[in-house]
Amino acid sequence: MNCLCCHEEIIIELDWANFLFPPKSSKLCDNCKRQMTLLHGNRCNRCSRVTEDKICDDCLRWQRYYDGVDVLEYNYSVYTYSSFMQDLIAKWKYRGDYELGTVFEDSYSTFFQKAFASIKDAVIIPIPLSMERLHERCFNQAEMLASFLSLKKMNILSRTHGEKQSKKSRNERIYSENPFILQEKLNNPVILVDDIYTTGTTLRHAAKLLKDAGCPEVYSYTLIRG
Ligand SMILES: [Zn+2]
Ligand SMILES: [Zn+2]
Repeated sequence: MNCLCCHEEIIIELDWANFLFPPKSSKLCDNCKRQMTLLHGNRCNRCSRVTEDKICDDCLRWQRYYDGVDVLEYNYSVYTYSSFMQDLIAKWKYRGDYELGTVFEDSYSTFFQKAFASIKDAVIIPIPLSMERLHERCFNQAEMLASFLSLKKMNILSRTHGEKQSKKSRNERIYSENPFILQEKLNNPVILVDDIYTTGTTLRHAAKLLKDAGCPEVYSYTLIRG
């Protein structure tokens, strides 16, 4: 089998341990696997940014913006946004390599247990793409990530217009209109799923809508902390 990322052949050296217990066939070569760096060390309890602060400055700003109560309980992310991860995500997301996304399955489902096991009756909502983006990319990476999790999923968010977020400044983004519409009310805690947490704006737009509609708590689970 070849590595899904660099396409080198994966060679498993036989020793006594894996002769007796053959390892699961790997999707990535050791070299690529090594470069997928898990977030480690102290992180912001709210957004998973690596920092010594309990709550980082950005999150304190969000809290003030929402009059003292952040609409997002917390975000948990798995990987750092290294240049290797940037390339991997670009191949997967923008160049439509659906299969490549399967390399995240094990870690994404394992860390979910660690971060969200205590939340009862939670429902997963993947962040939707606009129809325009979905046509370009052929699949929604957030939905693929959600498919790795065994909890109930509901696709009840949709986009009002195309996402041109990255072209706006941070302030414009914060104060811009909510790009989502909620199609159904929900009284369960919600865990939003997306590939990356960058400024947290998109996730908070979704969280605000859900909270206003009666959701008791909204969390987010992202593959990468940008
Ligand atoms: Zn490789
Ligand atoms: Zn933070």
